[in-house]
Amino acid sequence: MPEAGTYKIDAYEARMTDEKWCAIVNNDASYDDKFFYAVKTTGIFCRPSCKSKAPKLENVRIFSSAREALAESFRPCKRCRPTGERLPDYEWADQIVHYIDMNYSEKLTLETLADMCHGSPYHLQRTFKKVTGITPVEYIQQTRINKAKADLTGSRKQISDIALSVGMPNTPYFITLFKKLTGQTPAEYRQFNQQMTKPEVHRSGNKN
Ligand SMILES: [Zn+2]
Repeated sequence: MPEAGTYKIDAYEARMTDEKWCAIVNNDASYDDKFFYAVKTTGIFCRPSCKSKAPKLENVRIFSSAREALAESFRPCKRCRPTGERLPDYEWADQIVHYIDMNYSEKLTLETLADMCHGSPYHLQRTFKKVTGITPVEYIQQTRINKAKADLTGSRKQISDIALSVGMPNTPYFITLFKKLTGQTPAEYRQFNQQMTKPEVHRSGNKN
């Protein structure tokens, strides 16, 4: 409230410039608190000095305050703590879950996750398991298989295409994992569930 009138200026200043990009790439601490940057692909925001891996320019958004980044649902980085507060473990686990949910179709390793979510692989694995009860790799597998289940019953896509679309280009491995987690092969799962639900073709309805 006391800052009424400053929002337009903020919006103008909250743009990427060569100078800001340089500060981000060089982790320049002299720019800390002058601006913050958020990375769209991770949902995390940082101080310019953060030692995390340099993001891709096109994924970066600039904010003039931590408050604005929070207001747009970005979460504070665990490493550089842009809000000045220590990030609780459960919030970090939440960030990791969010990252997996958004990127399960990509190649994901513990190292990629640690890089993107700003921590060491060891620490990430330990914290994630402590909070959620399962390892990050188990969560990645569950996410992929759940997504594949929805595709098996909701589409006519080939099993190899479904495997690929959930980040598992190796179809035999996908089938093995699917069976391990669900007790059925993808083909069995599809057949079984299509018998359960009447095949529906969406031709009517939705006439707006
Ligand atoms: Zn950071």
